[in-house]
Amino acid sequence: MAASLERDATPEQQNLDAIIVGAGFAGLYQLYRLRELGLRTRVIEAADDVGGTWYWNRYPGARCDVQSLSYSYSFSPELEQEWEWTEKYATQPEILRYLNHVADRFDLRRDITFSTRVTAAHYDEHAARWTVTTDAADKIDAQFLIMATGCLSASKLPEVPGLERYRGRTHETARWGQQEVRFDGLRVGVIGTGSSGIQAIPIIAEQAAELTVFQRTPNFSMPAGNRPLTGEEVARTKANYRAFRAAQRNSRAGIPAEPATEFALATTQEERNAKYEAGWQKGDLVSLGGSYIDILLDPAANETAAEFIRAKIRAVVTDPEVAETLSPRTFPFGTKRPCLDTGYYETFNRPNVHLVDLRKTPLVEFTQTGIRTSAEHYELDAIVFATGFDAMTGALGAIDIKGRNGVALSSRWSAGPRNYLGVAMAGFPNLFTITGPLSPSVLSNMVVSIEQHVDWITDCIAHLRRTGYHAVEATTEAEDAWVKHVAEVGAFTLFPQADSWYMGANVPGKPRVFMPYVGGVPEFRQKCDEVAANGYEGFTLIKQGEPAAV
Ligand SMILES: Cc1cc2nc3c(=O)[nH]c(=O)nc-3n(C[C@H](O)[C@H](O)[C@H](O)COP(=O)(O)OP(=O)(O)OC[C@H]3O[C@@H](n4cnc5c(N)ncnc54)[C@H](O)[C@@H]3O)c2cc1C
Repeated sequence: MAASLERDATPEQQNLDAIIVGAGFAGLYQLYRLRELGLRTRVIEAADDVGGTWYWNRYPGARCDVQSLSYSYSFSPELEQEWEWTEKYATQPEILRYLNHVADRFDLRRDITFSTRVTAAHYDEHAARWTVTTDAADKIDAQFLIMATGCLSASKLPEVPGLERYRGRTHETARWGQQEVRFDGLRVGVIGTGSSGIQAIPIIAEQAAELTVFQRTPNFSMPAGNRPLTGEEVARTKANYRAFRAAQRNSRAGIPAEPATEFALATTQEERNAKYEAGWQKGDLVSLGGSYIDILLDPAANETAAEFIRAKIRAVVTDPEVAETLSPRTFPFGTKRPCLDTGYYETFNRPNVHLVDLRKTPLVEFTQTGIRTSAEHYELDAIVFATGFDAMTGALGAIDIKGRNGVALSSRWSAGPRNYLGVAMAGFPNLFTITGPLSPSVLSNMVVSIEQHVDWITDCIAHLRRTGYHAVEATTEAEDAWVKHVAEVGAFTLFPQADSWYMGANVPGKPRVFMPYVGGVPEFRQKCDEVAANGYEGFTLIKQGEPAAV
């Protein structure tokens, strides 16, 4: 049952300056910053605790694939020093413990209402305030509304009929329960081979009697090389955290890396393979793909990296037909989010693991006892859905958001998301989206991008308060120019060639638009900083009682 805001909140908390939706990395930090400004703020969170992604995704093998020491907040040097990451890539429980520690350490919980979903947010032009409605039918209002609803929080199931008929156990990676789930002795099916499937499959394979993996599109995956962190390397990072954080912010993806200086096809195959091998051995998301300037720009250059990885798959997987089925051939390397794994390809050498190629034999229906493809029926005791997310716009689209003149965000975005700097929209004063579409977000270390957006939003609100303005709204011209710029930069790359969730291609009927900003974390920060330094160029600042922009 949803909590009651009226019951939970003190009278001061009801007379709010700001409402934040979501209590993951973004919502927690935004609350911390708005408190510093002295704003009366309430966070509303659908889950019954903090953590966001790391609250919901409790599937076996769930862990970050940006290194722990890097995938963490930088705003508090004390927090950096006192927290001990134990592995190169932290597990979901460890990251959730970290976010709980953050909530406790900064006493954030008292301003969070849990177990409550925001269903609507309407702008009242007369009062110049946002009214938010929850699934408990509560209504609260505030001057500012900040969406920290997550890029990968609206999970989705496959569009295949008959799921309600299926009598076995079902589990969704992105909605995993709190109880430990074991698959010992069971015939298990996993649908989906994106990041979550690739992390979960090796562990489920060790427990299950038989594991059948249903794959629509194979992904490029590289070995994570996960290991315990040594005391020495933790101490070294802690001693140099300021320089390390600066390097993150100055790197394209928010992950420090040597910038490429050469073009792939200007070197020999031997040189290329040596470089790719070094990247492969590093066990991270950026080194192999960042080997050459043109990997994400030139199909022929890209193919050299793609073929390097396919050769690795062939070297590991003993059955050549299975190796080929696991080898991506329908999109350039890096244009779908690459994965890091621990023993993924090796898992397909196990006698209890079977691979079904849904491109050859599509899913037809769920039955009472399993799954039917166009070729065969599979009897299954349990099905795991690792079928991804309605990414970047799904959580926002699930809320009935209406701005000035009652205009719905869903209608403004019917041909794809439109905003300015990923953070604000024309027609929606004082509404901010943290790592919204058209910002670097999912192409970056998200904690770096979250902190950048939160800091920018906080500075913007502080500016309004200092200068006596009540509201800020992106102009249509600035929004149009940003949408155009993001599309142009994207079109310069190979990204639009993939049927990826970056393109909305995994959700039937979703407009095909390349949603993240690929210009890089430093360039994006610079643009945001320039906009602020120029008196919030591209925004209209509105005094209370004045008409808003037209
Ligand atoms: C399995 C997995 C692994 C990942 N690994 C990495 C990684 O290694 N590196 C990286 O950079 N990124 C990674 N990501 C992306 C990850 O989502 C971000 O790094 C980060 O956790 C996002 O934080 P957030 O606060 O923006 O959103 P989230 O953590 O998604 O939190 C959003 C919160 O908003 C709540 N919410 C949404 N809508 C409503 C509503 N209407 N009402 C109330 N509450 C609502 C949700 O319940 C959720 O708790 C991963 C994602 C997944 C799914």
